[in-house]
Amino acid sequence: MGVSLFTLGGTIAMAGRSGDGSGGVVARLTGAELTAAVPGLDGLGVPLDVRDTHAVPSAHLTFPQVIDVVDAASRAVADGAVGVVVTQGTDTLEETAFLVDLLWSHKAPFVLTGAMRNPTLAGADGPANLLAAARVAASPPAHGLGALVVFNDEIHAARWVRKTHATSTATFASPNTGPIGHVIEGRVRVLARPPRREPWPARPGAARLDATRVALYTVTLDDDGVLLDGLAETHQGLVVAGFGVGHVPGELAPVLGALAERIPVALTSRTGSGSVLRNTYGAAGSEADLRRRGLIDGGLLDPYKARVLLRLLLATGAGREDIAAAFAEHG
Ligand code: ASP
Repeated sequence: MGVSLFTLGGTIAMAGRSGDGSGGVVARLTGAELTAAVPGLDGLGVPLDVRDTHAVPSAHLTFPQVIDVVDAASRAVADGAVGVVVTQGTDTLEETAFLVDLLWSHKAPFVLTGAMRNPTLAGADGPANLLAAARVAASPPAHGLGALVVFNDEIHAARWVRKTHATSTATFASPNTGPIGHVIEGRVRVLARPPRREPWPARPGAARLDATRVALYTVTLDDDGVLLDGLAETHQGLVVAGFGVGHVPGELAPVLGALAERIPVALTSRTGSGSVLRNTYGAAGSEADLRRRGLIDGGLLDPYKARVLLRLLLATGAGREDIAAAFAEHG
């Protein structure tokens, strides 16, 4: 009846030097070494069951690998684990956490964490993050909250969390909501309980995921959209990160409309927080124009999470109506 810890590499485990002469750190620490470096972990009150999984930078992680971890974690919980911790790199953590959150069907907490300073640096934050994550995973008040990101003694809902800084140890933030809790003097304090949605009905297989490409296109000033030429031949879906409340240059609107006739195209904001609108602006390329042309309203979903959702939907065979309904629910 312990906490299951799955280690996936990232800065938190990067204490070795690469052999390629670059002198940079690479993932080297095993889960046992990671946990040995955490003062206070033995006072957790429950044992840790450590499983070394993929020692890779998080830029190398794939959807099937993350789904495999969710399935292994599910089995661990079915066998009696009270909660799950995953350590991984921070670069893709906002995406993997949301993918986990969509799939996680247990009440037991699924907590993701990592580090910004590797173990060879002064003030390495990995041990504190791992300890806080384990405390949350073992904590009854954290039950029923889905996937959580615990970092810098803050608890964030996977649905809202973003990596907001390239180097700061306070990089994880939830701009739309703030943290839903804190770890204070080792005590887990949950302050808000976001509603849980129905867990995902089916798991897509790796082959299906590989065959499902979803592009993310960030719109920029004076954008001619040439990069979008032929996209529907190579991709099954598209997420557009538009200006502000979901705007694009006027000449891009028909290009996106034509794509939306062939593949699902979701509209999100490139700003980093807030929602795209539905019916406020009326110019060519406005949110109302794009919706009229068939783009799906991404709501409050940021572009990266919208892409996770759309790929999962397409890989599980969802049709247009299911996709629109899922975006209405999650966005
Ligand atoms: N590049 C690292 C990774 O995501 C960064 C980190 O772990 O913080 O694997």
